[in-house]
Amino acid sequence: MSDIQMKTDVILIGAGVMSATLGALLKELAPEWNIKVFEKLACTGEESSNEWNNAGTGHSALCELNYTSEKSDGSIDISKAVKINEQFQLSRQFWSFLVQHSLIRNPRDFIMPIPHMSLVQGEKDVNFLKKRFKALSNHPLFHGMEYSEDPQKLKEWIPLIMEGRTSHEPMAATKIDSGTDVNFGALTRLLFDYLQKQGVEMNYQHSVKDIKRTHDGSWRVKVHNTRSGTIENHTAKFVFIGSGGGSLHLLQKTGIPESKRIGGFPVSGLFLVCNNPEVAERHHAKVYGKAKLGAPPMSVPHLDTRYIDNKKTLLFGPFAGFSPKFLKTGSNLDLIRSVKPNNVMTMLAAGVKEMGLTKYLIQQVMLSNEKRMEELREFIPNAKSKDWDVVVAGQRVQVIKDTDTGGKGTLQFGTEVVSASDGSIAALLGASPGASTAVHVMLEVLEKCFPQQMKQWEPKIKEMIPSYGLSLADNPELFEDIFSSTAETLGLNEQNPVPSHLMRKA
Ligand SMILES: Cc1cc2nc3c(=O)[nH]c(=O)nc-3n(C[C@H](O)[C@H](O)[C@H](O)COP(=O)(O)OP(=O)(O)OC[C@H]3O[C@@H](n4cnc5c(N)ncnc54)[C@H](O)[C@@H]3O)c2cc1C
Repeated sequence: MSDIQMKTDVILIGAGVMSATLGALLKELAPEWNIKVFEKLACTGEESSNEWNNAGTGHSALCELNYTSEKSDGSIDISKAVKINEQFQLSRQFWSFLVQHSLIRNPRDFIMPIPHMSLVQGEKDVNFLKKRFKALSNHPLFHGMEYSEDPQKLKEWIPLIMEGRTSHEPMAATKIDSGTDVNFGALTRLLFDYLQKQGVEMNYQHSVKDIKRTHDGSWRVKVHNTRSGTIENHTAKFVFIGSGGGSLHLLQKTGIPESKRIGGFPVSGLFLVCNNPEVAERHHAKVYGKAKLGAPPMSVPHLDTRYIDNKKTLLFGPFAGFSPKFLKTGSNLDLIRSVKPNNVMTMLAAGVKEMGLTKYLIQQVMLSNEKRMEELREFIPNAKSKDWDVVVAGQRVQVIKDTDTGGKGTLQFGTEVVSASDGSIAALLGASPGASTAVHVMLEVLEKCFPQQMKQWEPKIKEMIPSYGLSLADNPELFEDIFSSTAETLGLNEQNPVPSHLMRKA
C-alpha cells in the first residue's frame, strides 16, 4: 500500500490504559480526527495495565505511606499526598462522565469500593502514623479517615492480619472506607471497545519498529505486521508513544533533542496470590505497610482484596526484582539496547549511585518461595504456603536523567511526559503513581501538544472533568460535590457490592 492510503491524524502506539485514555479524550474533543492504534500483542491491556500485572490500587494517597514524608522538624509533609489525591479525582470524574453517557455501561466492571488502610508496627512507626493521621484527617480530601492502636478495633478491621500475633510491639492502623480497587485491564478493554465502535482503527500484532520525521513535519511510523510478516509505513500529524516499558526505545528512535540523556532502569515484580477462597473471604481491604530499609518505594508491601477473573481474591506484594527486560514480553537485551552515546554517562552515573538498589533487587529475585511466605507472615501470621501461588507482575521502567537537585544519573520514581517542542509527538515514561492518574497525565499530553486547541476544547473538558484547572484542596465545597456525585455514578457508596460479572453468574 502507498503512504497516501496510510495517512491519519493520530497514531497511538501501544494499547494500554494510557493510550486508551488519550484516545477516549481525543474522541470527545476532536471526534472528526482519524485515530489508528498499533499494538504488538494480540489484544489490548496485556502488559502493565493487565489486572494480574499491577496491584489495582486507585492511588489517591489514602494509605500509601511513601506519599507522606517526615520533615527534619518531625512534622509531616502532605503536599505529595494532596497532589496525588487531586489527580485521582480527575480520573474519577472522567470515568463518571463515560458512565453517565453510557460510553461505559457498568462501573462495577472496573471499579469497586474497598477500604484503604495503613498498618505499622513498633513505636517509631506508630508515632509516624499518628502524626500522619493528624495531618491528613484535618484535610478535606482525606475526610473520614480513622485511626486506632486498639487491638480489639484492629481485629474488627483486619481479622486475618491480627489472628495468631504473638508480638507485643505496639501496632496502629488508619482506615478510610472511600478507597477503590480498579481493574485497569478491564478499564483498558472497555475504553478500546468504545473507541473501536467510534471508528478508531485497532491494529493488533503490529509492532512499531521506527519513527522518523517527514519533510512536512508529520511522523512516519514503520510497523512490522507480525501476522502477515509485512512492513507497513503509516504517517500522522500527531503520535503518542504509549508503549509502557517499550516507550524509551521508540522515543530514542525519534531523535528529538528532548529524548537525549534519558535512560531506563527496569524493575520486575512478583505477587503472591491466594488460591483459597475461604481465606480470601476473611479479608476486605487494601492494607499498605512501610517499605523495608533500602527498598525502593514501589516495593512497599501490601495485602489487597482484588476482584479478578470473576472472583474475589487476595494479592500480596509486589516483590521487586531485577530483570533487563523493559516489558514482560520484552527481550533480555532491552537494557543494553537502551544505552546510547547520548545517555551512556547518565546511565553510568546511575549505575554507580544505585549500586545498593541493584544489589537489593538482585537479592529479591533470589528469594525462595518460603522466604516470600515469611514476608507474607509479617502480615498474616497464620498464612499457609499451600494457600498461596506466585504470579509474575508487570515490568516498571523507572526514568534515569540528570537533574539539578539529584545530579547526573538520578533515578526518578514518577511518570514523565516527554514531547517535541512543536507538540507533534509525545511519549510517556516511568510508572508511578501509574494508571490511577492516567487522566491527569493525558491532560498534560494535550496541554503540551495541543496548546492552540486547548482554549476551544476547555468547555468540553470542563463538562467531562468539572474540576479541571481548579484546586480541589482550595475548593472544599466543590470537592464534596464532585466526590459524592462521582461516588454515586461509579457505584462506590454501596458496601460490599458484587461486580456485575459475578451477578451474571449468580
Ligand atoms: C507491579 C506493578 C504494580 C502496579 N500497581 C499499580 C497500582 O496499584 N495502581 C496504579 O494506578 N498503577 C499501578 N501500576 C502502574 C500501572 O500498571 C501502569 O502505570 C500502567 O498500566 C501503564 O500503562 P501504559 O498504557 O503506559 O503501559 P502498558 O499497559 O504496559 O501498555 C503498553 C502497550 O504498548 C505495547 N507496546 C510496547 N512496545 C510496542 C511497540 N514497539 N509497538 C507496538 N506496541 C508496543 C505493549 O505490548 C503494551 O500493550 C503498577 C505497575 C506494576 C508493574
